[in-house]
Amino acid sequence: MKYHSTRGGARGLTFKDMLLSGYACDGGMLLPETIPAISTDTLRSWAGLSYAELAFKVASCFIEESDIPAVDLQAIFEKAYSTFSVPEVVPLARLKDGLVVVELFHGRSLAFKDLSLACLGNFYNYFLTKENRHMTLLVCTSGDTGSAAIEAVRGFDKVDIIVMLPRDRITKLQELMMTTVLDSNVHVYRMDGSSDDIDVVVRDLFADVPFSQKHNLASPSSLNFTRVLVQMVHIYYTYLQLCPSADSEVEMVLPTGGGGNVTAGMLAREMGLPAKFVCAVNDNNVLSHMMDTGECKLGDVHVTLAPAMDIQFAYNLERIWYLCSKGDSSLIKKVMKEVETGTVNVPLYVLNAMKAAIKVYTVTGDEEIKTTLKRCWDENQYNLCPHSAVGVAYYYNQKKDIKIPCAVLATASPLKFPDAIEASGVPVPSSERMRELLDSPVRHIDLEKGENWTAVVKAKVEEISKLKTRVADL
Ligand SMILES: *Cc1c(COP(=O)(O)O)cnc(C)c1O
Repeated sequence: MKYHSTRGGARGLTFKDMLLSGYACDGGMLLPETIPAISTDTLRSWAGLSYAELAFKVASCFIEESDIPAVDLQAIFEKAYSTFSVPEVVPLARLKDGLVVVELFHGRSLAFKDLSLACLGNFYNYFLTKENRHMTLLVCTSGDTGSAAIEAVRGFDKVDIIVMLPRDRITKLQELMMTTVLDSNVHVYRMDGSSDDIDVVVRDLFADVPFSQKHNLASPSSLNFTRVLVQMVHIYYTYLQLCPSADSEVEMVLPTGGGGNVTAGMLAREMGLPAKFVCAVNDNNVLSHMMDTGECKLGDVHVTLAPAMDIQFAYNLERIWYLCSKGDSSLIKKVMKEVETGTVNVPLYVLNAMKAAIKVYTVTGDEEIKTTLKRCWDENQYNLCPHSAVGVAYYYNQKKDIKIPCAVLATASPLKFPDAIEASGVPVPSSERMRELLDSPVRHIDLEKGENWTAVVKAKVEEISKLKTRVADL
């Protein structure tokens, strides 16, 4: 299996090339060159597998023995999922009125991004250790990605991670989940600016190609196809939990931001999985307008109770458009040029292919998030995070019309969002882990407005390389 770009300018990449580069060199996004097919019999034979076993089966469709030998691939998944707090990895809550909630948040950072980043970290470590190479990851985070990426690589010898967070613009708990990690390969900067300001630093460092190559810089962002690949596992897992006989169509409700999960779902569908998807979105509902009109018009980001979904352009749409246009890279090039102008017109046949598989549900304002959190608590004494509530709102609203097995994917733990829960009039959950965070020692470096952030981070990268290369030379 080889990987190529949605824009046609890069092809023939191996799994390792794809993993380590992250982006396609033509500005497009990487996808597998061919889409494997999974028969109903094969699918049925996967029911009853453990989460790590299923991950191995799904990943083996994309990663060959020559990329990573099977025993090593199995070990990577075992190790990645061993950091989860429950043996099932992804347990299901079956609640009143047939509501099924798929809990994707039992990893160390309590959000679903652990599922893919824990694997990504182990993939990096596998190749770097084999080749005795060191790599530095750069992450600009506005919340969940930073802590999931830190948890994925903390303590690794061949990887250092530099995380830059916008000071006072993320929740206290989110910040503590990063600053309380004291492993020597983790470096956290708190910057006095917005995530957009910080993005400039990341872009500057990658734009200096000789520098970024010399120091082996990488970004574990969800542009990396490995993350989408690994996210297919929870799509298959959910399907088989709802329908182990593999003989019915299933509907999955996905709280959507960047569109990583729905891309994983669309790819699984292309491979033959009988599944449909509901993208549940908040006031940032570009997707819903596009599905109605074919026009994708970008505006300002609305701040909601579900911050991980406060995204105007779901950047993974490029992959979905590619899949829905049967791989028309000249169309993708044209459409992505239009994105830069803020308005895209999606051809009708692409739109129709999307509509066959995807519905969009929008919650308006924070009110519906709050009433959903409250209803779910009142009926089940079960807490939802505000993102998962956007998905459950669809279920409560449309329940009478849902004729096939349906599940809502819960993307973060309610423990991370006490303020939203309190605002909904629901008792706030607490946990030992959260209480401990408040008392733990922290380590971080503060950067003020007016300082040359790029120069500071560059110097840090050089210092890390010096240290790690010297150790490697001994
Ligand atoms: C990242 C994130 C999302 C959005 O997921 P996509 O796959 O990018 O659409 C939703 N909820 C939470 C809690 C997240 O962290």
